[in-house]
This record gives sequence, C-alpha cells and structure tokens, in this order.
Amino acid sequence: MKTIKDLDIDGKRIFIRCDFNVPKDNEGNITDDRRIREALTTIRYCIDRDCRVILASHYERPEPGKYEDKYSLKPVVRRLVRLLKIADDIQLAEDVIGPDAQAKAAALKGGEVLVLENLRYEVGETQNDEAFAKKLASMVDIYINDAFGACHRAHASIDAMARQFDDAHRAAGFLLAKEVDFFEKTLENPVRPFVAVVGGSKVSGKLEALRQLLDKVDKVIIGGGMAFTFLKAQGMEIGNSLVEDELLDEARTIMIKARKQGVKFYLPVDVVCAEEFSDQGHIKHIPAQEIPVGWMGLDIGSASSELFKQVIQDAETIIWNGPMGVYEMDRFSKGSFQMSHDIAATDATAIVGGGDTSDVAQKAGDVDGMTFVSTGGGASLNLIEGKKLPGIEVLKV
Ligand code: AMP
Repeated sequence: MKTIKDLDIDGKRIFIRCDFNVPKDNEGNITDDRRIREALTTIRYCIDRDCRVILASHYERPEPGKYEDKYSLKPVVRRLVRLLKIADDIQLAEDVIGPDAQAKAAALKGGEVLVLENLRYEVGETQNDEAFAKKLASMVDIYINDAFGACHRAHASIDAMARQFDDAHRAAGFLLAKEVDFFEKTLENPVRPFVAVVGGSKVSGKLEALRQLLDKVDKVIIGGGMAFTFLKAQGMEIGNSLVEDELLDEARTIMIKARKQGVKFYLPVDVVCAEEFSDQGHIKHIPAQEIPVGWMGLDIGSASSELFKQVIQDAETIIWNGPMGVYEMDRFSKGSFQMSHDIAATDATAIVGGGDTSDVAQKAGDVDGMTFVSTGGGASLNLIEGKKLPGIEVLKV
C-alpha cells in the first residue's frame, strides 16, 4: 500500500477521506475528538505543501438523500478550526457534490481547506455508486484514504472513488498506514505471550475473529455479555444473562479447539448481577456458578478482575476488543475499567480496538498507557478475521 509520502502532492488538489464520525452529546457537543485530532497529521502535511485540501467523511446514518441538520459536519468543522488554528482558511460546503461544493472547490487556493457535507447525505455513497464517485473524483487530482474505521465498507468514497485514480495519484494517509501496519505486524509476528481479551455483547459478531485468534494467541480472556454463552455451554445456569443459544455448540467447539491447541481459555469466575437491566435496584456480587434464576450478569466480579490481571501479567502482546460489562452504567463499569488499568499497567504491546473499548480506555484515563488505540472497531475485527478490507485492497499496488 502506497502512502501519501510516496506521492508528489505539492500544490495539488487533494481529497482526504477522513473518519470524522465522532460521538456527540444531546446538546451536539463532541465528546471525544480523537478521530479528528488523529487526522491532523495528514491534513497538516497537505496544507504545508500548499495543497488545495478537500476533506470528506460520513457522520452516523442519515436517511440517504435527506439533508438533516443533526447529521451535519458543522461541529466537526468548528473543532477543526480550533485544532488547526486556521479559521479563515477552512470552510464547509452546504452539499457534497452539489453546486456549493463545486463552487467552493473551484475557488480553493493553496493551503486552504474545504470540508464537504456528510457523504451519506448522498444516496450514492453507501451504494458505492460510480457516477457519484466520478463526481467526487472530478474535484481533485489526488485521492487519500485516512479513514481506517470505514475501510471495511465498499462505499463510494472508499472504493469506487479510489478506482478513479492510478497508483501515482492515490494512497493511504498517515493514520490509515499506521493502523494497518500495527495490526498486520502484530498479528503476523507477535511477541509472546500473546493474549486476546474479548468482551462485548455478542458472540456472533466476534465468532470468526475468535476462531482466527485461537491460531495466533497463547491465552484468551472472555468477558462481557458474550461470556455467558460460553458459561452456559459448560453447563452452568446463567439466569437471564445475555445468551445466544444457537451458538452453544459453536462455543463448545471453540473451547475444545483452544484446549487441543494449548491455548489457555479464561472465563469470569464471578459476576455482578441484577434483576433488571437498569442502574437502579438490587445488585449482587456472586460466583459465576450461582447466578439466581431471573437474575442477569452485567459485569465481571472482582475475583475475575484479579484472575485476569494475573493472566496478562507476563503478556508481551495484548489485543483487547469489547468491554467486560455494561460499562455505560457506573455500577457495572468496574470490571471494564479495571481491565483497562491492568492492561495499561503491563509492559506489553497493548492494542485496543473498537468504539466501546476505546471509550472505556479513554474514560478510565488509560489511553496513554496503551500502545495503540485503534479508531476502527469493525475494521480492526475484520483484519483480525483475516478478511480483505475493500478500502485497503484498492490501495494495494
Ligand atoms: P460490542 O459492540 O459487541 O463490543 O458490545 C459492547 C456492548 O456490550 C456495550 O454496550 C456493553 O454495555 C455491552 N455489554 C457488556 N457486557 C454485557 C453484559 N454482561 N450484558 C449485556 N450487555 C453487555
């Protein structure tokens, strides 16, 4: 994969596909601007080379074809102005490929930045539509993809648009190159012991990744809602905890495969459970084997945290994807935060992937203690699964 450094970009019109899909609160304030800050290296690199820079991103999921203000990139542009400190030289187009975007793009001068409106306002984006991609491509000389988090989707700004350029005119931005490099190197040649910590709500979404990981790692730790499918597969009573009954056989197969391959497989030994999925009402801290009928496990308990801490103690590489409990509610957040602290405290190369998981690391104040916090959840899972990502494939020379 070529990177932006391999291209001659001086003074050119350049398109950078960013991932500005940042979380916002009810008042529309950006609550975590990491994705924007991480895109700055590539943007500054282009500004300093006197490029006319066009930035584009999707934001959440507007109804295609409908321009709704709540999905506008306005807050992102306000944050970009502050971070880049170039208030006069950055503007937002009212549309994506419409008259305003075209006029503003044509009027751009060297070192100036234009942000297009939410790519998903246009029907063609998610349909990977070639006519839409050609329109986008006609605005620039160079195509750069810096949106790792969107690379697993064959959308127009990721796939069809990149195809409109030859290898001398398309490449990965610094952030994309860094993320891919990190995952590929770690998975190909991990320093051992290599531990995977997997949590979150669903086994189904992570099944393939888990299967692939068994061939690579020395130990697996399972937490979060997905642990209960494995606990039930071992014959335990799990009350009303989250479970995917149709995957019980699969869970058994995975545990057998782990045993055969000598991969140590750890499940929670105790849980925090409640009668309701709520931040009110009674909760109990109990051994995993004693979940009462009608109760559900919503976090791992302190004994599990202690056990998992021991397990990762000698790790040289850790991949973490998925929280250990319903971390969004304070009373069920301890297991996830403790996991975050314990991973950050090791000397291991620690890679955190996934929106929720990086949110945990961020809230726990551990981002600096991790080696790498990936901006892309689905994309990083796909890489672990060994799948080819459309956005990366198209950039390969
Ligand atoms: P995922 O998208 O699969 O990584 O799942 C993340 C979500 O899993 C978070 O929103 C958590 O609240 C949720 N989660 C974690 N542990 C549990 C649990 N024990 N029961 C229900 N949901 C959980």
